[in-house]
Amino acid sequence: MTEQLATMPTDFTRALAIVAHPDDVEYGTAAAVATWVDQGREVSYLLATRGEAGIDGIPPQESAQVRESEQRASARVVGVSTVEFLNHRDGVIEYGPALRRDLTAAIRAHRPELVITINHHDTWGGTTWNTPDHRAVGRAALDAAADAGNRWIFSELGNEGLAPWDGVRWVAVAGSPWPTHAVDVTDGFERGVRSLLEHRSYIEGLTDTDPRTYCREVLDWITGSAAPRFGGRPAVAFELFAR
Ligand SMILES: [Zn+2]
Repeated sequence: MTEQLATMPTDFTRALAIVAHPDDVEYGTAAAVATWVDQGREVSYLLATRGEAGIDGIPPQESAQVRESEQRASARVVGVSTVEFLNHRDGVIEYGPALRRDLTAAIRAHRPELVITINHHDTWGGTTWNTPDHRAVGRAALDAAADAGNRWIFSELGNEGLAPWDGVRWVAVAGSPWPTHAVDVTDGFERGVRSLLEHRSYIEGLTDTDPRTYCREVLDWITGSAAPRFGGRPAVAFELFAR
């Protein structure tokens, strides 16, 4: 438990975060994104859904619009201006070639050296079951990092002007029960809190706690959990898969 986390690689210029839902990036990763953007790196987001099934009291069509706009505002807080959405259905994203193809197309278009995704494991570290959307998108992102470099997989993408990109060097999985690396988020922490706070409609549907209090407590917990394994510094941890 006390084994230290390694420092995340810094020799990249472009990163692409591939997640399932609005807010997936904001539970920790956004604080690291703020730090990367400060250092001159370009970060883009790709969301498989608009999170339309995420708020019990708001019907899907309305919810999709609200959550898309909250996600764009949230990205702006940490200096991310490119936010793209796929049209997979919230809650029932299917792992398979169609999803891999969509993610491969995005990786070829953005040409990132670092892909960030969400926990693809069955659980959040034991007895808390993960959601099927996270498992599907996380696994497909790990697979698509390789698919993007092979011109004979999804070869139709070449005809759409998307040349193979074999330049993904790492896939970093956020929220993994088995992190290996971390980013010091001393500088990005406050923007991380504010970026989560942009998901106000979702948070108000989730908890009776004041949203400001909730967001700060969540980020304190996330960054504090990694700190003992990262020299006591507030940090966001990732499980890093090198290619
Ligand atoms: Zn999610």
